[in-house]
Amino acid sequence: MVPHTQRGIIRHPAQVYGYSVRGAPLEVYLPEGKTECLVFAGIHGEEAETTILLSRALRSRRHTLQHCAVILAANPDGLALGTRANANGVDLNRNFPARNWREGHVCHRWSEGCAQEVVLSTGSAPASEPETLALMQLVERLSPAYLVALHGPLACIDDPQGSALGCWLAEASGLPLVADIGSPTPGSFGSWCQDQGRAVITYELPPDSVWALQAVHLPLLSRLLDWRWSG
Ligand SMILES: [Zn+2]
Repeated sequence: MVPHTQRGIIRHPAQVYGYSVRGAPLEVYLPEGKTECLVFAGIHGEEAETTILLSRALRSRRHTLQHCAVILAANPDGLALGTRANANGVDLNRNFPARNWREGHVCHRWSEGCAQEVVLSTGSAPASEPETLALMQLVERLSPAYLVALHGPLACIDDPQGSALGCWLAEASGLPLVADIGSPTPGSFGSWCQDQGRAVITYELPPDSVWALQAVHLPLLSRLLDWRWSG
């Protein structure tokens, strides 16, 4: 592990896989070997804790990535603006061209206990957004066996396949393993992947501060980046 004094910057080289609506580079950290897993954070810009924890896991490691690719900010404009959506007001996780994509709007909660009433667009068409399209193309290019999407704050490991990786994440994190998050997610990344038979695990962090979360989730993310992809 890199000593704390040297964890201020990311020392691994990134590759640009596209550009956001406002022209921010979409970056992926690629492994030396075949990509067995792609882990991404920050597709919802209001979930900055996912980006920070994954960045800390990357900054803590001395060695290059072997079989895991990492995206810290799938929605960099949303992270910069502090919005769930991208700069066009589109919830990217409802913009994927899954069979269940719906034109119109999607609502999310402003806070716990509130109704889902904050209105966002699902996009003018499936994959209308550059961030969506770039992520799709990257997934198709790398074709990893596993995909892990970091979100918050629903506090669960959503793995419809009940895979070995999902079971391990649930056990190691203490979060419940579920087969769905309990409400429909048309046009989500997970729906799009499932249409193609790709395994997706949605890692939903609990509602807490980065400092509180990192006690459990930083070591776990670090181990995830070095998961032994034996099939
Ligand atoms: Zn989310």
